[in-house]
Amino acid sequence: MTSPLSEPRPSFLLDRLTPAQRAVATTLGEGFRAAGHDLFLVGGIVRDALIPRDLPADLDFTTSAIPEETKALVEHANPAAVYTIGERFGTIGAIFGDPSDRVDAEITTYRAEHYPDETRFPTVRFGVSLDDDLSRRDFTSNAIAADPLTGALHDPFGGEGDIAQGLLRAVGDPDERFDEDPLRLLRAARFVSQLGFAIDRETEVAMTRHADALDRISVERILAELTQVLTGDYVAEGLETLRRTGLLESAIPELAPLAAEAGMESRRREKALWDHTLRVVSQTPPRPAVRWAALLHDAAKPLTRGYDPDGEVNFIGHERVGADLAGRALRRLKADRTLAADVRQIVEMHGRPTAYEPDWTDSAVRRLALEAGPVWDDLLDLAAADVTSAQEYKQTRAAARIAGLRHHFDRLQEEAALDRLQSPLDGEDLKRLFNRPPGPWIKSLKTYLRELVIDGALSQGDTATAEALAREYLAANPSL
Ligand code: ATP
Ligand code: MG
Repeated sequence: MTSPLSEPRPSFLLDRLTPAQRAVATTLGEGFRAAGHDLFLVGGIVRDALIPRDLPADLDFTTSAIPEETKALVEHANPAAVYTIGERFGTIGAIFGDPSDRVDAEITTYRAEHYPDETRFPTVRFGVSLDDDLSRRDFTSNAIAADPLTGALHDPFGGEGDIAQGLLRAVGDPDERFDEDPLRLLRAARFVSQLGFAIDRETEVAMTRHADALDRISVERILAELTQVLTGDYVAEGLETLRRTGLLESAIPELAPLAAEAGMESRRREKALWDHTLRVVSQTPPRPAVRWAALLHDAAKPLTRGYDPDGEVNFIGHERVGADLAGRALRRLKADRTLAADVRQIVEMHGRPTAYEPDWTDSAVRRLALEAGPVWDDLLDLAAADVTSAQEYKQTRAAARIAGLRHHFDRLQEEAALDRLQSPLDGEDLKRLFNRPPGPWIKSLKTYLRELVIDGALSQGDTATAEALAREYLAANPSL
């Protein structure tokens, strides 16, 4: 069961593993070899090492051993836990190490998938070769096997060359690949967004042909891939891939009006809406809620477009209608309640922070922050990213408003925190302790002790030290 491997090179891959990952790779590699089985690292870890980029935490392996044998060999390697929920599909999972330094490994038997009809579930066939196993994988960059002991590569589909060119290419016939499993369509956009790869032409043409097939996969899986597209470093390219191929409309029909206009080159202003959306998404931090909100924030503009008497375009109420669209989209995709509610809220309020003026009262700022509640930071991040005017003075002015609002709120927070800092001894305590009638000495002492608390020299609960300090203070200030 050996396969021809390339010459071992100074191991680009093994050297990049963490010591804990490397230990797992070595132990498993030796154990499987001693039992007469092949074992290879495969998938993200090999791809990301070749790019090179930060490696994923998890190790994916492929092996000639059948799941039962894999389980025995893995148990022999002293894992913290073994899980077998994927056994039917050939996968044994294991967790190695202690919680602070854990390594998750998934070891899957060489397998081929057979798709009898258009149902969601392929039948799995074991007992195939390494090459057969690699040929059922989605993209050439994900279909490279690496020996866990030497780092030598086995790359029958030219994945290394494609990685060097930053190219995502389906393994074999792209139409067959996407027909077998439409999730691969979204995985392609996800890899564009995460890796910055371009999609091979033939692969992209096939994606466009299969865009409608998304209805064959579960909405949970669609949502998970879309969120990964949204949080990638090259999110604009990822989203543009979705739009160009028709996948965006297919996955999020609520964005169809925005996406459709982007295709109409002649209508300058409308095309600008989609380009604006891409810029805004790219300028937000890569957190799911704010990125989803950025994608959907102007979704209702094409539906609410109106014209002022002077001919100026307006989009009255697009925030409210947009919030409804966002809520509907995320409910359909079965997003958890918090994400759906947060995105709705951010979209609905997205225009509010730009109305800020430096003369806003503290209570106006507090009311806005209270209304935003848990999405306050996301809201400010979206509002700041939403400033994409081509006119520099407008851009500067709007950015200054958001920054002003942020500072105003931060100042209120600091003041509130200060207000909570008090002298460990109040007036009653002091009167009792010193057995004196009330007078200016109390205020003076409380101020002295509170300053020490603010400085961090005295803790608010430390009444004993406070009392000693108060005595010293009074002794040093006999006039009080
Ligand atoms: P990540 O860094 O996100 O883990 P990955 O490429 O490792 O990326 P996984 O979902 O962990 O992605 O899958 C591991 C490997 O299994 C992939 O690299 C690919 O070879 C194969 N694979 C996963 N999902 C599919 C699929 N839907 N169709 C074909 N091959 C797939
Ligand atoms: Mg992986």
